[in-house]
Amino acid sequence: MANNAKGLMQKTLIKNGISFYPPTYEVKPINILITDDTISQVSEKEIPTTPDMMIYDVAGNLVVPGFMDCHTHLSQSFGRGIYDNLHLTQWLLTMIENFDLTEEESYLATQLGCIEAIKSGTTTVAEMTTAGPYHEACIQAIADSGLRGDVCMALGDFQEGDGPPPEKNASQLLDDMRDLHQQWHGKYDDRITVRVSPVGLPACTEELIRGSRDLANELGVGIHIHNCEGDTETANAYDRFNMSEVETYEKFGLLGPDCQLVHNIWLNDHDKELIAEYNCSVVTCPSTNTKVTDGMPPMPDLHKLGVNIAIGCDGESSSGTYDMLQEARLVALLGKVSTMNAAMFTAEETYEMMTKNGLEAIGFDTKVGEIKPGYKADLTVIKYPAPHLIDETRLLSNLIYSATGGDVLSVMVDGKPLYWNGEMTQIDEQVVLAHILDVMRKGKHLIP
Ligand SMILES: [Zn+2]
Repeated sequence: MANNAKGLMQKTLIKNGISFYPPTYEVKPINILITDDTISQVSEKEIPTTPDMMIYDVAGNLVVPGFMDCHTHLSQSFGRGIYDNLHLTQWLLTMIENFDLTEEESYLATQLGCIEAIKSGTTTVAEMTTAGPYHEACIQAIADSGLRGDVCMALGDFQEGDGPPPEKNASQLLDDMRDLHQQWHGKYDDRITVRVSPVGLPACTEELIRGSRDLANELGVGIHIHNCEGDTETANAYDRFNMSEVETYEKFGLLGPDCQLVHNIWLNDHDKELIAEYNCSVVTCPSTNTKVTDGMPPMPDLHKLGVNIAIGCDGESSSGTYDMLQEARLVALLGKVSTMNAAMFTAEETYEMMTKNGLEAIGFDTKVGEIKPGYKADLTVIKYPAPHLIDETRLLSNLIYSATGGDVLSVMVDGKPLYWNGEMTQIDEQVVLAHILDVMRKGKHLIP
């Protein structure tokens, strides 16, 4: 706990905001008292101030829970825009062949992704690092940015298609995972947590999937895994195991309420029932699914079965964005057009996918994703009014269908500003951008 000079806990007041009040999501005034890093009072009325309070007057702007991006590969920010126009299978091969960052580049690329995420209102990332031997450089960049990070590293021990052979076997990878957990889990006042992450069945053996479940149980953490993303990859996995990916995960004991399944495109009806039966959460990444033509994510079917749906921006090399508002808008629109039902995924349901459903998916012990006493002060402030954000009675609809990350004014995690009134506070953005531009211009090795 961070005490002030007199040994008392820091009091912070967010005053003069407006916010959505669930379950109706009516817009009303909001004032939020934060004690140390946790919300201690939420009131429509003014909260009396004391001389020791840190006061942030948000001047009538909209305060929402910080967005929870439940699947990222932040170091792929260096690959944005250079692997366009490729179907997933070709994109994967091209990126694996060419994406070869140094430790410093891995840190910088992740830092770049963090800046974009923070500036568009994200406060939590569920990061699966894909930075070869430099996973820890990525995690350090997340920790230094001030974001809350539930992190893991992509584990694969099976040669996928024409890809490179694996460098380590299942047992070595699981040892690395255990070391990573020991090194990072609970660090930075619990802002960084670690979970186990076999990358996905197309690149994993039975030994690694079963071992991942055993390790997750031993460490008391969850599982994060890609599921049924590409048509070819899903078909290849079926041929290897003579059953679907989800059925194989069930057979190997992987499924459970602590399991986050990412993508979920090529599901049969039995797969969908299994995901619901085992109470898994799914993370949908529609920008990637459309840009690299993974396919149409059948989220409406899973929604009807009561499955918890969260949203992820995935890696920028495939999605092109870490803007959760853009991603959420696409979830809603694809839900509607894929079912020809304009009522599929209401603004309220979509808003929950980018906030409180993220908590259910990640399963933190610490509470985030809502503005309530006892929850961590992870908050995002959005400029209001604006030409496309006008009139409180339709503001939630405006937020989902009309807003972008560019409307975000301020962001805090654990009651500490990471971005305030348009300025990054933890990171010197201009210095970082100049450094990154220099590295990128020399980075010919990233271009296929
Ligand atoms: Zn991914």
